[in-house]
Amino acid sequence: MANSEFEQRRQTVASGLAEHKLDGLLVSWGPNLRYLSGFTGSNALLLVTPGKSILFTDPRYTIQAGQESTCQVRIAKGPLVIDVVAAIAKSGLKRVGYEPALTTCDAYQSLESKLPMKATLVAVKGWIEELRTVKSPAEIARIRRSVETNSKAFEQAVARVRPGMKEQDLAADLEYRMRRLGAEKPSFETIVAGGVRSALPHAQPTAARFRTGELIVVDMGALQAGYCSDMTRMLYLGAPTAKVKRTYKAVLEAQLAGIDAVRAGVRTAAVDAAARNVLKGYGLDGAFIHSTGHGLGLEIHEPPRLGKRDKGRLKAGMAITIEPGVYLEGFGGIRIEDTVLVTEKGCEILTPTGKELRVL
Ligand code: ZN
Ligand code: ZN
Repeated sequence: MANSEFEQRRQTVASGLAEHKLDGLLVSWGPNLRYLSGFTGSNALLLVTPGKSILFTDPRYTIQAGQESTCQVRIAKGPLVIDVVAAIAKSGLKRVGYEPALTTCDAYQSLESKLPMKATLVAVKGWIEELRTVKSPAEIARIRRSVETNSKAFEQAVARVRPGMKEQDLAADLEYRMRRLGAEKPSFETIVAGGVRSALPHAQPTAARFRTGELIVVDMGALQAGYCSDMTRMLYLGAPTAKVKRTYKAVLEAQLAGIDAVRAGVRTAAVDAAARNVLKGYGLDGAFIHSTGHGLGLEIHEPPRLGKRDKGRLKAGMAITIEPGVYLEGFGGIRIEDTVLVTEKGCEILTPTGKELRVL
């Protein structure tokens, strides 16, 4: 990503400080910090002020910070907050924003106890997360690549699925293949669950072996060049029963209705309702126990959320998932999930993988 893009983002924040009644913003949450500075190290703080931005980190990251970021870099010899407080005092900042949801009590107390007399900390909620919801062309290109890697890894690994294979082995194969295809790692812990365990929406792969006559859920994502993808597909070993076929049809119709409802300006709750109403028609809405989707980018789950009670509206350039599912104890679960890009007129489905039930 071009340095100018990070500089542009910091400029946007710097120009918004006055509106938030702030003299500076202290960014501590890794993905927000990376979004604004380009820095990917684990221990850092970023202070954005109207004049300049300073990236504080430790000596392990001296070379990396210089390579990744055009911010002024300060290498702290001890705790970063000591240097942050010194910079706040030197610039005479009075109202400094911080990220309350993402700051530990420890870090807050340590910072507050050392602040100069005149300075106060002001909680800033979701500002950078909001900026991050609309993706730039460079970010969309990265999400596309991540989605492509993920789908390729799925095709390669699924071709080898047989009765007797362990859930863990399929998960390991999926992750190995995504790395061979250019991903840094999975964007979340790969979900592979067979039979009745597929009814657990966040099942961990176990040593259980696939058996004929079982549903298998695969929910996977790649993290590539810092950006996430997310996809769920269903496999079936043997000939699907009438109940499996009917339930699959219901979820697929719900997913297509959700996708159909996506357009810039639409309420996120309306997209959720579109998917949920289809399941209601099948008497399955009670088995749809989560929201219809979520934003993704630098993080696997980021705003907006597409749930019943969510208030936001979609904007062109948002990358989101559409993933209705039904979970029936003793039977199994069925979820179908794509990553899509919101456009003015609708959306572009980024996930290239076919949505039919994979009968193996
Ligand atoms: Zn998923
Ligand atoms: Zn998801």
